[in-house]
Amino acid sequence: MRFYDPYRLLSPEAHHWLEKEVIRAFEPSELGLRFVGRGGPGVIPATLYPELPDRWDVAPEAIGVAIGVHGEPRSIFLSLGAAERALGLPLARHRDTPLNAKRPKRRLHGSQTRRLGVALGRVLAHELVHTIAPECPHTTHGLMAERLSRRMLTAPGVGFDALATRHLRLAAAGMGAPETG
Ligand SMILES: [Zn+2]
Repeated sequence: MRFYDPYRLLSPEAHHWLEKEVIRAFEPSELGLRFVGRGGPGVIPATLYPELPDRWDVAPEAIGVAIGVHGEPRSIFLSLGAAERALGLPLARHRDTPLNAKRPKRRLHGSQTRRLGVALGRVLAHELVHTIAPECPHTTHGLMAERLSRRMLTAPGVGFDALATRHLRLAAAGMGAPETG
């Protein structure tokens, strides 16, 4: 997969935590998921926005969404603002700030940066399952729960439950090509 941050919203540290968390979440599934530096066939794109566009008709608290046109692999979009609100972090950017405004001046503590990266990584992992294993339902426990509470987004060791892991293993077996995703 490929993570895009076109508005340069994340610090390198937060980006590091995000990737690390996604890899950690998928480890038990044996999917062989990895991040690549450029797009291409079989690479799932995930893009971080300041906010998801209003016209997409997603709940204001939605941090992530996976959108697919018929038959095409889905693209993932993440909202920094929704993640910050869910975690109670200071906002990097307010809704009315133009997208081309200069990079916001906001400093997060190290632990806040880690929480933000981990939370975005978990939401990305959730949306990745919708993309890789679309038949996997929302689960009662774990990262495929329909709504991820602040605790689920940040507490140590939260991963996919057994049902989601089973779906992911099936998807991994069906893919064959280890470089997929
Ligand atoms: Zn979902």
